[in-house]
Amino acid sequence: MELPTRIIPNPHLLQSDDLLKHIMETTVYPREPQVLKELRDATAKDPRCRAMMATAPDAGQFVALLLKLTGAKKTIELGVFTGYSLLLTALTIPQDGKITAIDTNREFYEIGLPVIQKAGIGHKIEFIESEALPVLDELLKKEANEGSYDFAYVDADKLNYWNYHERLMKLVKVGGIIVYDNTLWGGSVAADPATVGHRGGAVTQSTIQFNKSIAADPRVDISLAPLGDGITVCRRIY
Ligand code: SAH
Ligand code: CA
Repeated sequence: MELPTRIIPNPHLLQSDDLLKHIMETTVYPREPQVLKELRDATAKDPRCRAMMATAPDAGQFVALLLKLTGAKKTIELGVFTGYSLLLTALTIPQDGKITAIDTNREFYEIGLPVIQKAGIGHKIEFIESEALPVLDELLKKEANEGSYDFAYVDADKLNYWNYHERLMKLVKVGGIIVYDNTLWGGSVAADPATVGHRGGAVTQSTIQFNKSIAADPRVDISLAPLGDGITVCRRIY
Protein backbone atom coordinates (compact mmCIF):
# COMPACT_ATOMS: atom_id res chain seq x y z
CA MET A 1 0.00 0.00 0.00
CA GLU A 2 1.33 3.42 -0.92
CA LEU A 3 1.43 5.96 1.89
CA PRO A 4 0.09 9.45 1.14
CA THR A 5 2.68 12.23 0.93
CA ARG A 6 2.31 14.56 3.88
CA ILE A 7 2.73 18.32 3.52
CA ILE A 8 3.41 18.64 7.23
CA PRO A 9 3.89 15.68 9.55
CA ASN A 10 0.38 14.69 10.57
CA PRO A 11 0.31 12.57 13.71
CA HIS A 12 -3.24 13.88 14.14
CA LEU A 13 -6.46 12.11 13.42
CA LEU A 14 -7.86 14.81 11.19
CA GLN A 15 -7.97 13.17 7.79
CA SER A 16 -7.52 16.32 5.74
CA ASP A 17 -3.94 17.63 5.75
CA ASP A 18 -5.18 20.94 4.34
CA LEU A 19 -7.63 21.43 7.18
CA LEU A 20 -5.00 20.52 9.75
CA LYS A 21 -2.56 22.96 8.14
CA HIS A 22 -5.22 25.65 8.28
CA ILE A 23 -5.90 25.05 11.98
CA MET A 24 -2.23 24.88 12.92
CA GLU A 25 -1.16 27.89 10.86
CA THR A 26 -4.04 30.22 11.71
CA THR A 27 -4.95 29.28 15.27
CA VAL A 28 -2.29 27.21 16.98
CA TYR A 29 1.29 28.10 15.96
CA PRO A 30 0.87 31.90 15.99
CA ARG A 31 -0.45 31.67 19.57
CA GLU A 32 2.04 29.09 20.84
CA PRO A 33 4.40 30.69 23.40
CA GLN A 34 7.99 30.88 22.12
CA VAL A 35 9.32 28.68 24.94
CA LEU A 36 6.90 25.89 24.04
CA LYS A 37 8.11 26.05 20.47
CA GLU A 38 11.69 25.86 21.75
CA LEU A 39 10.84 22.80 23.81
CA ARG A 40 9.17 21.20 20.81
CA ASP A 41 12.28 21.89 18.70
CA ALA A 42 14.64 20.52 21.39
CA THR A 43 12.53 17.35 21.52
CA ALA A 44 12.43 16.97 17.74
CA LYS A 45 16.23 17.38 17.53
CA ASP A 46 17.14 14.87 20.23
CA PRO A 47 17.89 11.43 18.78
CA ARG A 48 16.67 9.75 22.00
CA CYS A 49 13.16 11.12 21.51
CA ARG A 50 10.23 10.15 19.41
CA ALA A 51 8.78 13.65 19.20
CA MET A 52 5.39 12.16 18.35
CA MET A 53 5.04 11.19 21.99
CA ALA A 54 4.68 14.83 23.02
CA THR A 55 1.26 16.43 23.47
CA ALA A 56 0.03 17.85 20.16
CA PRO A 57 0.10 21.69 20.16
CA ASP A 58 -3.59 21.96 19.20
CA ALA A 59 -4.61 19.67 22.05
CA GLY A 60 -2.26 21.62 24.33
CA GLN A 61 -3.92 24.89 23.40
CA PHE A 62 -7.27 23.41 24.41
CA VAL A 63 -5.83 22.17 27.72
CA ALA A 64 -4.47 25.66 28.46
CA LEU A 65 -7.91 27.12 27.78
CA LEU A 66 -9.48 24.61 30.21
CA LEU A 67 -6.91 25.53 32.86
CA LYS A 68 -7.83 29.19 32.48
CA LEU A 69 -11.58 28.61 32.36
CA THR A 70 -11.45 26.65 35.60
CA GLY A 71 -8.84 28.85 37.29
CA ALA A 72 -6.86 25.73 38.16
CA LYS A 73 -4.04 26.24 40.66
CA LYS A 74 -3.12 22.86 42.09
CA THR A 75 -2.55 20.28 39.37
CA ILE A 76 -1.04 16.84 38.82
CA GLU A 77 0.45 15.32 35.68
CA LEU A 78 1.12 11.65 34.96
CA GLY A 79 3.53 11.19 32.04
CA VAL A 80 5.91 14.13 31.51
CA PHE A 81 8.28 13.01 28.71
CA THR A 82 10.29 16.14 27.72
CA GLY A 83 7.71 18.43 29.34
CA TYR A 84 5.51 19.99 26.66
CA SER A 85 2.25 19.61 28.63
CA LEU A 86 4.12 20.37 31.87
CA LEU A 87 5.56 23.66 30.59
CA LEU A 88 2.21 24.56 29.05
CA THR A 89 0.50 23.99 32.41
CA ALA A 90 3.18 25.86 34.34
CA LEU A 91 2.91 28.86 32.00
CA THR A 92 -0.87 28.93 32.35
CA ILE A 93 -1.57 28.50 36.08
CA PRO A 94 -1.01 31.45 38.47
CA GLN A 95 2.37 32.36 40.03
CA ASP A 96 1.49 30.48 43.24
CA GLY A 97 0.16 27.45 41.35
CA LYS A 98 1.71 24.00 41.79
CA ILE A 99 2.18 20.97 39.54
CA THR A 100 3.10 17.53 40.81
CA ALA A 101 4.64 15.86 37.76
CA ILE A 102 5.34 12.13 37.72
CA ASP A 103 7.31 10.07 35.22
CA THR A 104 9.39 6.89 35.40
CA ASN A 105 11.98 8.48 33.15
CA ARG A 106 13.96 11.51 34.30
CA GLU A 107 16.25 11.47 31.27
CA PHE A 108 13.49 12.73 28.96
CA TYR A 109 12.52 15.42 31.47
CA GLU A 110 16.10 16.68 31.53
CA ILE A 111 16.01 17.29 27.79
CA GLY A 112 13.29 19.90 28.32
CA LEU A 113 14.54 21.15 31.67
CA PRO A 114 16.82 23.97 30.40
CA VAL A 115 13.88 25.48 28.51
CA ILE A 116 11.59 25.03 31.53
CA GLN A 117 14.12 26.75 33.80
CA LYS A 118 14.61 29.58 31.34
CA ALA A 119 10.85 30.16 31.30
CA GLY A 120 10.97 31.20 34.96
CA ILE A 121 8.22 28.83 36.12
CA GLY A 122 10.41 26.10 37.66
CA HIS A 123 9.22 26.98 41.17
CA LYS A 124 5.73 25.71 40.32
CA ILE A 125 6.98 22.20 39.48
CA GLU A 126 7.67 19.22 41.68
CA PHE A 127 9.01 16.39 39.52
CA ILE A 128 8.81 12.87 40.94
CA GLU A 129 10.72 10.08 39.21
CA SER A 130 8.48 7.09 39.78
CA GLU A 131 5.71 4.88 38.52
CA ALA A 132 2.56 6.98 38.81
CA LEU A 133 0.35 4.47 40.60
CA PRO A 134 2.30 4.15 43.88
CA VAL A 135 2.63 7.95 44.07
CA LEU A 136 -1.15 8.34 43.78
CA ASP A 137 -1.65 5.68 46.46
CA GLU A 138 0.83 7.46 48.70
CA LEU A 139 -1.00 10.78 48.20
CA LEU A 140 -4.28 9.10 49.09
CA LYS A 141 -2.92 7.99 52.46
CA LYS A 142 -3.14 11.62 53.56
CA GLU A 143 -6.74 12.68 53.98
CA ALA A 144 -5.87 16.32 53.31
CA ASN A 145 -5.01 15.43 49.72
CA GLU A 146 -8.50 14.16 48.97
CA GLY A 147 -10.41 16.54 46.72
CA SER A 148 -7.48 18.96 46.81
CA TYR A 149 -6.46 18.99 43.13
CA ASP A 150 -8.14 21.31 40.65
CA PHE A 151 -6.83 19.61 37.55
CA ALA A 152 -5.14 16.38 36.40
CA TYR A 153 -3.50 15.58 33.06
CA VAL A 154 -3.02 11.89 32.33
CA ASP A 155 -0.57 10.85 29.62
CA ALA A 156 1.46 7.96 31.11
CA ASP A 157 1.12 4.24 30.31
CA LYS A 158 -2.24 3.74 28.67
CA LEU A 159 -2.95 0.32 30.20
CA ASN A 160 -3.31 1.94 33.63
CA TYR A 161 -5.74 4.73 32.66
CA TRP A 162 -8.66 3.18 34.56
CA ASN A 163 -6.48 2.63 37.65
CA TYR A 164 -5.48 6.31 37.43
CA HIS A 165 -9.10 7.32 37.01
CA GLU A 166 -10.22 5.54 40.19
CA ARG A 167 -7.53 7.30 42.22
CA LEU A 168 -7.87 10.71 40.59
CA MET A 169 -11.60 10.67 41.26
CA LYS A 170 -10.64 10.91 44.92
CA LEU A 171 -7.76 13.37 44.56
CA VAL A 172 -9.46 15.85 42.23
CA LYS A 173 -12.13 18.07 43.78
CA VAL A 174 -15.81 18.00 42.86
CA GLY A 175 -16.05 20.31 39.83
CA GLY A 176 -12.39 19.62 39.01
CA ILE A 177 -11.11 18.44 35.64
CA ILE A 178 -9.24 15.32 34.53
CA VAL A 179 -7.89 15.19 30.96
CA TYR A 180 -6.81 11.90 29.37
CA ASP A 181 -4.58 12.08 26.30
CA ASN A 182 -4.41 9.64 23.36
CA THR A 183 -7.90 8.28 23.84
CA LEU A 184 -8.31 7.63 20.11
CA TRP A 185 -4.87 5.96 19.90
CA GLY A 186 -4.06 6.80 16.30
CA GLY A 187 -7.61 6.00 15.26
CA SER A 188 -6.99 2.33 16.01
CA VAL A 189 -9.96 2.23 18.41
CA ALA A 190 -12.21 2.31 15.37
CA ALA A 191 -10.03 0.42 12.88
CA ASP A 192 -10.36 -3.07 11.51
CA PRO A 193 -8.12 -5.15 13.85
CA ALA A 194 -6.39 -6.64 10.77
CA THR A 195 -5.11 -3.25 9.60
CA VAL A 196 -4.17 -1.34 12.76
CA GLY A 197 -0.49 -2.33 12.63
CA HIS A 198 1.76 -1.30 15.53
CA ARG A 199 -1.02 0.68 17.12
CA GLY A 200 -3.13 -2.44 17.47
CA GLY A 201 -2.98 -4.87 20.32
CA ALA A 202 -3.20 -4.36 24.05
CA VAL A 203 -3.28 -0.55 24.14
CA THR A 204 -6.00 -0.36 21.50
CA GLN A 205 -8.11 -2.87 23.40
CA SER A 206 -7.63 -1.15 26.74
CA THR A 207 -8.36 2.26 25.20
CA ILE A 208 -11.62 0.96 23.74
CA GLN A 209 -12.52 -0.41 27.17
CA PHE A 210 -11.48 2.83 28.88
CA ASN A 211 -13.67 4.89 26.53
CA LYS A 212 -16.65 2.64 27.26
CA SER A 213 -16.05 2.68 31.01
CA ILE A 214 -15.67 6.44 31.24
CA ALA A 215 -18.86 6.94 29.22
CA ALA A 216 -20.66 4.69 31.71
CA ASP A 217 -19.24 6.50 34.77
CA PRO A 218 -22.04 8.61 36.30
CA ARG A 219 -19.53 10.52 38.45
CA VAL A 220 -18.22 12.58 35.51
CA ASP A 221 -19.33 14.88 32.71
CA ILE A 222 -17.30 14.00 29.62
CA SER A 223 -16.28 15.03 26.13
CA LEU A 224 -13.91 13.19 23.82
CA ALA A 225 -12.41 15.97 21.70
CA PRO A 226 -10.74 14.70 18.50
CA LEU A 227 -7.75 17.05 18.86
CA GLY A 228 -4.25 15.65 18.47
CA ASP A 229 -4.58 11.93 19.21
CA GLY A 230 -7.90 12.38 21.00
CA ILE A 231 -8.32 13.93 24.45
CA THR A 232 -11.07 13.01 26.89
CA VAL A 233 -12.11 15.78 29.25
CA CYS A 234 -13.89 14.76 32.47
CA ARG A 235 -15.45 16.97 35.11
CA ARG A 236 -16.05 15.38 38.49
CA ILE A 237 -19.73 15.77 39.38
CA TYR A 238 -19.74 14.22 42.87
N1 SAH B 1 2.78 14.61 28.39
C1 SAH B 1 3.99 14.43 27.66
C2 SAH B 1 4.04 13.12 26.89
C3 SAH B 1 4.06 11.88 27.76
S1 SAH B 1 4.60 10.44 26.88
C4 SAH B 1 4.24 15.60 26.70
O1 SAH B 1 3.39 16.49 26.56
O2 SAH B 1 5.30 15.62 26.06
C5 SAH B 1 4.40 9.20 28.09
C6 SAH B 1 5.33 9.27 29.27
O3 SAH B 1 4.82 8.37 30.25
C7 SAH B 1 6.78 8.82 28.99
O4 SAH B 1 7.66 9.88 29.31
C8 SAH B 1 6.99 7.63 29.91
O5 SAH B 1 8.29 7.59 30.50
C9 SAH B 1 5.93 7.82 30.97
N2 SAH B 1 5.47 6.61 31.64
C10 SAH B 1 5.29 5.38 31.12
N3 SAH B 1 4.85 4.53 32.05
C11 SAH B 1 4.73 5.23 33.20
C12 SAH B 1 4.29 4.91 34.52
N4 SAH B 1 3.89 3.69 34.85
N5 SAH B 1 4.29 5.88 35.45
C13 SAH B 1 4.70 7.15 35.13
N6 SAH B 1 5.12 7.50 33.90
C14 SAH B 1 5.12 6.56 32.94
CA1 CA C 1 0.26 11.79 24.77
